[in-house]
Amino acid sequence: MTDSYRDKGRRRRLVEDLRKKGISDEAVLAAIGAIPRHLFFQKDFEEHAYEDKAFPIGNEQTISQPYTVAYQSALLNVKTGDRVLEIGTGSGYQAAVLAALGAQVYTIERQEALYLRAQKLLSDLGFVSVRCFFGDGTKGLPLFAPFDKIIVTAGAPVVPDKLKLQLRHPGGILVIPVGDTVQRMFRIVRTSAETWQEDGLDTFRFVPFLEGTVRNDER
Ligand code: SAH
Repeated sequence: MTDSYRDKGRRRRLVEDLRKKGISDEAVLAAIGAIPRHLFFQKDFEEHAYEDKAFPIGNEQTISQPYTVAYQSALLNVKTGDRVLEIGTGSGYQAAVLAALGAQVYTIERQEALYLRAQKLLSDLGFVSVRCFFGDGTKGLPLFAPFDKIIVTAGAPVVPDKLKLQLRHPGGILVIPVGDTVQRMFRIVRTSAETWQEDGLDTFRFVPFLEGTVRNDER
């Protein structure tokens, strides 16, 4: 697993591209500049790792577009030491970006094959601050709640109450794309034990947020 000068150069250009598209959070741009996105790709698509596009990662899922990763990461406003729950590990790339931002990351994936692959990759790459879990993220991760931040990387039909209740209060932040075919990004701040402030932002397209889990041998 190498990170060549060519990869680093392409990554610098990706960061400039994101800046032009309106991403201004310097910590997020630095994190994207630091993480070798090509290592989270399947061999067939590796050439495309520094294009600002989503790509297949197997099991009908995709690695999110860098713009989307940057947009969601900026909304989370990660501070060093924040306990962050990610729902939808997928390739593990977003989890690596959160770790680069200084988060203690808990990431959960419903497809066992993807969970196993991401867990191995993140451990091989030395991401000791990321813990991977296999399970249904619509329930959150109650054993490790509350979280300072929660990020959902699949399109949710509705916001699960369980996630809102696993935010620290006051001040916990949930970033979640909501909708069926297209999704509006919501940033939800828990202002007290029983109150939340919700802001609807730009629209995106994500793979669906689904209930239940898929074991390797069920496929
Ligand atoms: N963050 C990922 C993006 C992966 S796409 C990355 O950086 O590569 C979204 C992922 O969410 C898919 O892998 C999908 O299997 C997973 N997913 C969908 N519904 C889920 C749920 N209820 N719990 C956990 N993971 C879920």
